[in-house]
Amino acid sequence: MNIKETICPRCGNPSEEGLCGPCRLHEIEWVSVSPRVETILCPSCGSRKVGSTWTDQQMEKEDLARSLVIDGISFHPDVRDHAMEISIRDISSNRSKAYLKISGTCYGIPVEDTFQVLIVWGKEQCDRCCRISGSYYEGIIQVRGEGRRLTEWESRRAAEIAWQAEDAAQQGGDRLSFVSSIDSSKDGIDIIVSSRGIGQSIVTDISSYFGARSTSHPKLVGEKEGKRLYRVTWLIRLPRVVRGDIVLLKGDYYQVTGSDGTTLRTKHLLTQQPRSFRDDESVRVIGNIRDAEEAMVTYHEGDIIGILDPKTHLPLEIPAPDGCHTQAGGAVTILRDGDQLVVVGY
Ligand SMILES: [Zn+2]
Ligand SMILES: [Zn+2]
Repeated sequence: MNIKETICPRCGNPSEEGLCGPCRLHEIEWVSVSPRVETILCPSCGSRKVGSTWTDQQMEKEDLARSLVIDGISFHPDVRDHAMEISIRDISSNRSKAYLKISGTCYGIPVEDTFQVLIVWGKEQCDRCCRISGSYYEGIIQVRGEGRRLTEWESRRAAEIAWQAEDAAQQGGDRLSFVSSIDSSKDGIDIIVSSRGIGQSIVTDISSYFGARSTSHPKLVGEKEGKRLYRVTWLIRLPRVVRGDIVLLKGDYYQVTGSDGTTLRTKHLLTQQPRSFRDDESVRVIGNIRDAEEAMVTYHEGDIIGILDPKTHLPLEIPAPDGCHTQAGGAVTILRDGDQLVVVGY
């Protein structure tokens, strides 16, 4: 008989030290399972409320149910070789039930038990959906042209930039920053934003994309919980002349390659030479290269090119730009300035 072998004081069976395994197991709760778990989800967007904070959650409902149930399980530290099987069944729109089989070993003895857990799905409208449904906003961004209307392309591009900024904000976890709506008018577009933060970043993005200037006018609209509430109106003016515009100055056509609002960087359409000049009334915009049409080339001789006007199908002779090697049968792109056609690409 081993010198260390002792007798269990409770049942009299051999034991290594103090109580024997079965008697110790009898003393403890080897696993505890919360019989009821709950969580709150937004019925509109599926966000989840934890404590008082809402977060977007990407988990499937079944995975979320599993993790709620597992969070409610705690093992005694002496349990080894944990294993569990969980199956979940929906019992109503806001209740599910989890059936668990849990097993392990404790003090060398295999243990196993089954449990049922009720999962309660609470519903509450989240902070973001509240704001959206209440048409909450903190700012309006007006995008306009300098002395002109916005083109369709500019309106579309500005709107895309706003939606991209919203995606970035939402992905960065800034739940309350979103674009409430974008309204078009004949002069341009209005972007309604839910927070000043996203408003400012959209203004920065649109301004730098178009090389435009912006101003902001905060207006005090009230007070909430001791904090002053402002609504900001931003005005972005897209310059009169933008990159890609074809302009006429003193009988010559130029393509604008850049602008700082006062000085235009251009290239001469015939010679391809770069030239900078001030934007003033003597500079006339005839169109943008994005709106160019394609015209069929009928012949090309020296610096004269013959084309078919794509609208009238009548033959025309116009100057060919230096470096244009397009021959009969090929195509060039043109813009119209009244009756005059101008080659803008080849
Ligand atoms: Zn015992
Ligand atoms: Zn929601």
